Amino acid sequence: MKPFVPQLIYFEPKALDYPLGKQLLEKFKEMGKEILYTTSHNQVRNLPGDNDFQKYRVAKSTLVVGVRKTLKFDTSKPSAEYAIPFATGCMGHCHYCYLQTTMGSKPYIRTYVNVDEIFDAAENYMKERAPEETRFEASCTSDIVGIDHLTHTLKRAIEYFGKSDHGKLRFVTKFHHVDHLLDADHQGKTRFRFSMNADYVIKNFEPGTSPLAKRIEAATKVADADYPLGFIIAPIYLHDGWQDGYKKLFEQLEAELPDKAKKDLTFELIQHRFTKPAKRVIEKNYPMTKLELDEEQRRYKWGKYGIGKYIYQKDEEAEMKEVLGGYIEKYFPKASLEYFT
Ligand code: SF4
Repeated sequence: MKPFVPQLIYFEPKALDYPLGKQLLEKFKEMGKEILYTTSHNQVRNLPGDNDFQKYRVAKSTLVVGVRKTLKFDTSKPSAEYAIPFATGCMGHCHYCYLQTTMGSKPYIRTYVNVDEIFDAAENYMKERAPEETRFEASCTSDIVGIDHLTHTLKRAIEYFGKSDHGKLRFVTKFHHVDHLLDADHQGKTRFRFSMNADYVIKNFEPGTSPLAKRIEAATKVADADYPLGFIIAPIYLHDGWQDGYKKLFEQLEAELPDKAKKDLTFELIQHRFTKPAKRVIEKNYPMTKLELDEEQRRYKWGKYGIGKYIYQKDEEAEMKEVLGGYIEKYFPKASLEYFT
């Protein structure tokens, strides 16, 4: 599982007004990559491919280097106060990924080079809430670690929040390419989280991401670098032998993590859910998926803008919470469960 290298690369001409834009241009030229240009990172059209299925796959390996215009941050409950927008899109192919619906016709990856302007906006949000601390989530619209070996934006952000008085950074990843982040001066202000799951879920529904063993190895490196560590178990997905599958995951984590990581560990638990529009997109992009998307089997929960989601039945939900909560207590008694949703 090699670090991501885009097949197609586009630049917004304005990106070259920023140091990171120039650096990336040089880097891609040295790699022998053809550079294409686009007037706006929101308008990359005519990607190659004979049909939607192929175009979708090409888009997921296309990188657009652009300038982030909207510097108003979205809120990011329950894990943080705000989403900090360094990138949009992801090269992974998780069948259930919520980005499939939120990114609609633009599944290509965008990285933003006006990083200082994004930091300035974050500073204003922090000032507004001071002396309360403000948490920023860097992985709401992408798997930021997956492209950071190219941009090092996340590394800068870790060091930026390390120096801040009232800011905290958090992000989650399914990738193990973390080595360049290990020596960042984080000052304990970044919570580095990994998305973990039962082996069945990773193998069947998370193509294009790092395997479980690699994620665990990366988590141990991150713990050794003294980052506060966390795990998001999402989506919790009921399948034959799920209790045992999740138990094995906890056993592996417990066996491999260094003791110091176990003292300040957080868990976030998110059950599988889908919306009707998501189901349509998933069935189009991953027609062979085994992912169970039967509305009849689920409970409907009203959501924002009239788009409700299908979650597990109350008794299933209670069982999941009890089983996984029990594993947390058994294997990591000092850890905290931040939420189950
Ligand atoms: Fe989506 Fe995360 Fe998978 Fe990327 S790694 S496809 S962001 S779920």
